[in-house]
Amino acid sequence: MTGRLIVLTGPSGVGKGTLLTALLARHPELYLSVSATTRSPREGEVDGTHYYFYPRDRFEREIAAGALLEWAEFAGNYYGTPIAPVQAQLDRGRSIVLEIELAGARQVASIFPDALRIFILPPDLQTLETRIRERGTESEAAILSRLEQAQVEIAAQAEFDFQVVNDDFEIALAELDRLVSPI
Ligand code: 5GP
Repeated sequence: MTGRLIVLTGPSGVGKGTLLTALLARHPELYLSVSATTRSPREGEVDGTHYYFYPRDRFEREIAAGALLEWAEFAGNYYGTPIAPVQAQLDRGRSIVLEIELAGARQVASIFPDALRIFILPPDLQTLETRIRERGTESEAAILSRLEQAQVEIAAQAEFDFQVVNDDFEIALAELDRLVSPI
């Protein structure tokens, strides 16, 4: 069986991370790509587990070396997917999940047209704002930038193969589970 590339996109605060953790618990065969970023670690985030935390010059060297499958700037920081682990997993026939924002998802779609692309939606913008604020990890400027970007991303939802609304967590998880399960 060949590995599949699965792309999960959706606005900041929509609950992608929590959904993914639950999805991976149900699907141990799925491998989650660890992204690189220049943003500072949040409390509890571990380098190499949640992200590879790079200074900007290191990130720019990775771009120049062609070491990233895709990358984008989001709310003032760089984010990107190291290419080597993705290639290694696909070569082994394992499926890999990328949790990335819109510009990166578009790059992946042009490189891997067969990737399964799923967009996670909030029930509405007000709920999204409440979730981001309750997380309490971002400055006011970062919150506003993320909310602005959320509207841009939501407007592009139709580019994705499937849309999943994260209103009731269990329903959203069941839907995701169905989408990633081999037929
Ligand atoms: P956060 O700072 O909240 O962890 O992530 C901000 C945004 O960056 C989220 O939408 C997340 O999906 C996206 N992101 C995380 N890793 C990557 C990546 O490797 N590439 C791209 N393009 N976006 C990423």
